[in-house]
Amino acid sequence: MSLSTIDKAFVKAFAQTPDVIAAAPGRVNLIGEHIDYSDGYVLPFAIADRTYAALRKRPDRLVRIASVQQRKLIVTVNLDDINPKLKGHWERYVLGVIWAMGINQGVNIMIDGHVPLGAGLSSSAALECSVATGLNDLFSLGFDLETLARLTQKAENDYVGVPCGIMDQSVSLMAKTGSALLLDCRDLSVRHVVFDVASSGLELLIIDTQAHHSLTDGGYAERRASCDSVVAKLGIRSMRELTLEKLETSKDEITETEFIRARHAVSEIARVIDAVAALEAKNFIELGALLNASHTSLRDDYDVSCPELNAAVNASLSAGALGARMVGGGFGGSAIALIKASHTQEVINAIEIEFKRNSFKAPRFFTSLPSQGAEIIQRGL
Ligand code: ADP
Ligand code: MG
Repeated sequence: MSLSTIDKAFVKAFAQTPDVIAAAPGRVNLIGEHIDYSDGYVLPFAIADRTYAALRKRPDRLVRIASVQQRKLIVTVNLDDINPKLKGHWERYVLGVIWAMGINQGVNIMIDGHVPLGAGLSSSAALECSVATGLNDLFSLGFDLETLARLTQKAENDYVGVPCGIMDQSVSLMAKTGSALLLDCRDLSVRHVVFDVASSGLELLIIDTQAHHSLTDGGYAERRASCDSVVAKLGIRSMRELTLEKLETSKDEITETEFIRARHAVSEIARVIDAVAALEAKNFIELGALLNASHTSLRDDYDVSCPELNAAVNASLSAGALGARMVGGGFGGSAIALIKASHTQEVINAIEIEFKRNSFKAPRFFTSLPSQGAEIIQRGL
């Protein structure tokens, strides 16, 4: 890992000689969507794009923060003034981490993020986890990765005010090169599952549709409420306890909408387990079929897709992808397609043509192999 990937001139100008430089990646969720809040499993992996945080101790109680991506604003705050009510912009992600970790000494923090912002690749978790990893090392705090995941989630939930689950921070902190991370959302236990697409000549294409439909907030709450209602009516603790058979026999006790929402949840949990088996068997045809089934379920039963996501998925499949699905909350954001590495440009062209035909905003494309989670990349400059 070399420093050439981070903006050296800016680091020097701002943090002089940093004491430590940490990096943390963005992520993509391979499968397991809208299931974290139902005690399900998720199977994300870290992408190669990372956010870098260069830190230097200060002798006083000031925190100074700057970002290469936000050069206009260099923030200076006294540690004693950091609390969730303090107004601000992007720096709130950093201050939230300082707050959640209980940092008690001044520090300069310089950020250089290479994870595209707002593309559904979790640049926010990459930012939080790079800062948390740097602070943990700089002040010899000794927090383990699970604790860091909880603290950075707390920063985003309680300081920034975004109600995200634990997936993004967990994978940004814990991921290993060449593996996806099976995370059990019921007890937060993890398992690394080898996801070796490259040696099979495959690649995962990430398609940012650039669509953001306003339904998102209400839509998300409505889906969660449906799941809560099913759980209450059937007297179970979570969707994890439900099977398709049991759901079928309980059909009369719930509404039709609740039935199809629950069907997504139950079938998606099963698909994650099947996807792990497919990865372990290096059966990428099966993995592709599971991605397709996940998309169909999210589109028809959970009803969280949108025309842009469907177009990205359909065009990918028509151009020969093994499988494709929407990722994230839905109503916009990104899709993924499992493709032959030699076909990348063909698939991209097919999607671009389909988007033009529908007069959609031009999509953005990223590819990434499963990469390493957060790490200290350098001490000193
Ligand atoms: P996502 O996590 O999907 O990229 P979010 O809206 O959750 O989208 O997080 C994006 C926000 O995180 C940005 O608007 C900005 O406030 C903050 N952010 C992420 N990376 C950086 C960075 N390198 N520099 C400054 N702010 C950043
Ligand atoms: Mg985010």
